[in-house]
Amino acid sequence: MENSINYTWPIIPKYKVCEHDKYGIRKNHYVLFKEREHSGFDITADYGTEVKSVAKGKVIRAGFDGTTTEGLEAFNMGYGNSIEILNDDGRRCVYAHLSEIFVKEGDIVDNNTIIGKTGCSGGSRVPHLHIEIRKENTEETGLDYTLNPLEVLPKFDFSKCTLEFSVQPYAELWKKMSSSEDPWGFTKENIWYSESREYIK
Ligand SMILES: [Zn+2]
Repeated sequence: MENSINYTWPIIPKYKVCEHDKYGIRKNHYVLFKEREHSGFDITADYGTEVKSVAKGKVIRAGFDGTTTEGLEAFNMGYGNSIEILNDDGRRCVYAHLSEIFVKEGDIVDNNTIIGKTGCSGGSRVPHLHIEIRKENTEETGLDYTLNPLEVLPKFDFSKCTLEFSVQPYAELWKKMSSSEDPWGFTKENIWYSESREYIK
């Protein structure tokens, strides 16, 4: 195990960062509609954007995560199509809500390996990549077991990310999430498509 390894961004962010995207406590969660921890960082991305591994490592899981919560079908909760990689520094990294997966368990990857494509699968309501970096090789998620990806990935100047996400039907929710007055003011009515396999995919 190496103590220090090179981290790079899995995709280059281009859309404005919303409060809901950030690591930490979310005051309103767009699947559960209550306060909840967010153990990763969300990078809004066009559907089908290529995702690279953030570091050298080995794929330990690749497939669909259909963890469910009361009242929701497996297809629209959990990490969706996701990949877990054990980085060479001993940290486990999760890439979630993908549309396509190009790697399988046991594959060795580095920073240039394209591991999949972004999507809106599982508990996602706007196409994005959820990147989660766990302190160790653990199944546990939550803030106690994870690091803020922005403290691990290279410094990135988000003031350059001014683009607004405009793909319907997700754009209505994104606009609410990106508002400066009330970024937590979205309701179930704004996310009427959450039970639809046409949009959660
Ligand atoms: Zn996330």
